[in-house]
Amino acid sequence: MRCILAALFCFAGAQQLAQASSPAVEHSIEVVLKTDTAEILIKDRLRVSGRERYQFQLAAWLGVESLLLDGQEVRPLVQGLEYWLALPDRNTHELQFTLRGEVPARDSQQKSWPALLSSSGDDGFFLPGYDAWIPRDEGGRTSYRLTVTVPVGQRAVATGKLVSEQLTEDVYISTFETLNPGEPPSLFVGPYQVAERLGNGLRLRTYFHEDLVPLAETYLEAADSYIQRYQQSIGDYPYSDFHVISAPIPVGLGFPNLTYVGRQVIPLPFMRTRSLAHEVLHNWWGNAVSVDYASGNWAEGLTTYLADYALAADQGGEAAQSMRIKWLRDYAALPAERDQPVTAFTSKQHQAAQVIGYNKVAFIFHMLTREIGQAAFDDGLRGFWQKHKHDTASWRDLQVAFERAAGQDLDWFFAQWLLRSGAPRLSLGAHSVNQDEAGFRTRVEILQPVTGYRFQLPVSLTTVDGTRQYDITIDDTLTLVEFVTPTKPLYFQADPDSDVFRRLHQNETPPILRDVTLDPETRTLIASNDAEFTAAARNLASRLMDTQPRFDNLAAAQQPGNSLLLITTHDRLNEDLKLLGLKRPSALPKVAYSAEVWTTRRANGAAVVVVSAANTNDLKSLLRPLPHYGGQSYVLFEAGRALSRGIWPIARGALFRDLGS
Ligand SMILES: [Zn+2]
Repeated sequence: MRCILAALFCFAGAQQLAQASSPAVEHSIEVVLKTDTAEILIKDRLRVSGRERYQFQLAAWLGVESLLLDGQEVRPLVQGLEYWLALPDRNTHELQFTLRGEVPARDSQQKSWPALLSSSGDDGFFLPGYDAWIPRDEGGRTSYRLTVTVPVGQRAVATGKLVSEQLTEDVYISTFETLNPGEPPSLFVGPYQVAERLGNGLRLRTYFHEDLVPLAETYLEAADSYIQRYQQSIGDYPYSDFHVISAPIPVGLGFPNLTYVGRQVIPLPFMRTRSLAHEVLHNWWGNAVSVDYASGNWAEGLTTYLADYALAADQGGEAAQSMRIKWLRDYAALPAERDQPVTAFTSKQHQAAQVIGYNKVAFIFHMLTREIGQAAFDDGLRGFWQKHKHDTASWRDLQVAFERAAGQDLDWFFAQWLLRSGAPRLSLGAHSVNQDEAGFRTRVEILQPVTGYRFQLPVSLTTVDGTRQYDITIDDTLTLVEFVTPTKPLYFQADPDSDVFRRLHQNETPPILRDVTLDPETRTLIASNDAEFTAAARNLASRLMDTQPRFDNLAAAQQPGNSLLLITTHDRLNEDLKLLGLKRPSALPKVAYSAEVWTTRRANGAAVVVVSAANTNDLKSLLRPLPHYGGQSYVLFEAGRALSRGIWPIARGALFRDLGS
């Protein structure tokens, strides 16, 4: 179910903080929010030292009503969102801000990154720290004490430790404090029902809209068990609270000690399992240890490996392998020109970045575990945590921690997987089987034409006595392996469990939607004369394609060449397919669904996605759900609901050799 999450935004430590150059600034903040009018009054008292000027940003919707410098009214210089204030000297000075504004009403424009800024509505207020609703420093870390007053019936919650709360006849007042300096506070207000679980020195809460209250206990239970799990494997949970907050906007955001999740998403099963585990773990990776973005973002891939992947591995080796295959499958769909080195990944702004920053990085940690062993990997991770918690860390820091734990130089490993784009390509060359006094002598050539890679390749040899697995080192373009067995060999297979990150061969990759949607050369064909259908189809194409769709007509696309996205109606389908020399796959059920989406390949191997709907309304019903199914080969819909989906079966790939023939 990664697909639905893929449409959300997941960015822990949402802002990319500059390196801490100045000491942390301490804020004492009082907020009064009138939820009926969205008016907000913010008083912020802070102390700065060691500077000649104080430079800060402020959200555009806020105005400075007054500013006192050591008790004297002053006026900062303003340009756009930037403010400057000269300080008399580098000693400690106190600044007192009074800010006033109206939190902008939520509109549909604010759904997408990077415009995910402060917003208000009847069902909740969102004031993320990166939007500078308190003066945002030019760099460095923030510590704060924040008191928020909201009308009774509303609840306010913020990043930081909840130190007190009070309910009077008219208002609800709550106070939050940082334990360690970090990012500026993020504030969430809404007509929430609060459920709580205390234990092990932690306070866990859900702030849910009323309709979600029945799910609160399940969430508290799940969050608790994930926190326990990661405490044991990594080190103590770095905060004193963890909250799950229901969001009126369709997001999945991670902040220190809380996660803010779209209210429509909270009831979905994947959210309280994989996605919640992922968000909980970001408190270690991304929040308490923040990312040094200059050398790339290691936190998403590490979190994916230790949360999403580890949960799959809990279900058994097969589930773990299918996740690795899915990552390889997604990578195979990435056109070479959109590939990038891991160190170039900072945050997920499109699908292509996810394929590298989440999947490839997670796969690299899988290979690292195999290279140095589970014990050294776990030690390395704990060492990294101890050294860097409440600090910023880079890929280099991770490498040092793993080298220390493993007692070996890993420069070659990190350099080949992080600094270059691309991946090894494996295939089998000639083979021979001869019988002599020693037994059966099997020789197989393994080809890996992309130079500069070194890795452990598991191979398996099956004889009439059974299957044995071996690890061999590949560090050349041609590797000859030889086995001597007492009984007759039957099969040889390289990488039988998909343990190596590599470019799959086309015969290992049944087409999926993403083969077409990630390819900027894809031609979109709309087979209809109906204006309304055509408009809906153009809209759908824009939602599906990762880049701007390129429209073409059926006649022009008859020459085999590019990948295709064909959008048509059921009654025209056969005619269109015939024109393009394509066939509806026989694996699909005969019954007609209101809409069907499936993949195939053209004669030259180019991938095709066919979207066929009974009518315009059925086509429109795909707008929301279909973009979530990029990893599938086919999806069948009835009235906008996906009733059936899957990946076409994989034929035995290029790394399998039948030795008996
Ligand atoms: Zn994440």
